[in-house]
Amino acid sequence: MTSIAALVLSGLDPTGGAGLLADVSIIKGEKVHAAGVPTALTVQTGKKVVSTRRIPRNFFRDSLLAQNDTFSIRGVKIGMVGSAGIVQEIYRFLRDLSPQWVVLDPVLFSSYGTPLISDGGLKLLKKIVPLCSLITPNWLELKILSSLFGIGGKKKDLLCRTLSEVSGTSVLLTGGQEKERGTDYLFHRGGMITFSGKAVRKGNFHGTGCALSSLILANLIKGHEIEKSIEVSKRKLEKHLLSGFRSSDGRWFMGG
Ligand code: PLP
Repeated sequence: MTSIAALVLSGLDPTGGAGLLADVSIIKGEKVHAAGVPTALTVQTGKKVVSTRRIPRNFFRDSLLAQNDTFSIRGVKIGMVGSAGIVQEIYRFLRDLSPQWVVLDPVLFSSYGTPLISDGGLKLLKKIVPLCSLITPNWLELKILSSLFGIGGKKKDLLCRTLSEVSGTSVLLTGGQEKERGTDYLFHRGGMITFSGKAVRKGNFHGTGCALSSLILANLIKGHEIEKSIEVSKRKLEKHLLSGFRSSDGRWFMGG
């Protein structure tokens, strides 16, 4: 046994469908240990984020350092970050630790439109992007992130390519266009790779972005190249979706 671990920094969604609880269980399902520090607390049902609370910045920092004393952190997954103070602490931690892998799922809104990051947090996210190995935005998140770097436009491939070049980070545009759901595009080392996938049409699933980025991080830590990690992760995600179930309030949750 070794003390190699992934460190998950994301919001605590008590339903377990997204955020910290989901990320940790998915990474552990890949046989990689995952420690997790909450960036924010939320009250939510399957469909609705009812409210969010900040985590005190010093408390968050102490927890990051405690995990670093406990494990050899090989990769970090960042999801919902909440507030500017937390983004600043994540920036310092990544800068000082330089983990081998950093995957950022830039969670800006819930599927039902609740903002999950403050305005100040969003501005500072620009500092974190260049420290990441891979970012996994959907189309809306890509447009907003690009605008932080002064990049605009309606062409998805051009936006991804430019953001990747300017930030020095690989970009996986998730979700594809509406008619190609399940298809993702990777911009990596100047080239583009298309990953086709099955659109599992059972219903509106909770936490699929969280699950994909966590699966990719786990597979990078296991030693796969980025392309292979994405390919393997998409197949695993499809399995989780196919074994999903419907919650009492009508949202779909991934199976184990
Ligand atoms: N809560 C947390 C902590 C999340 O990280 C996310 C998404 O990443 C959500 C809620 C919203 O999930 P969804 O858009 O699937 O409803």
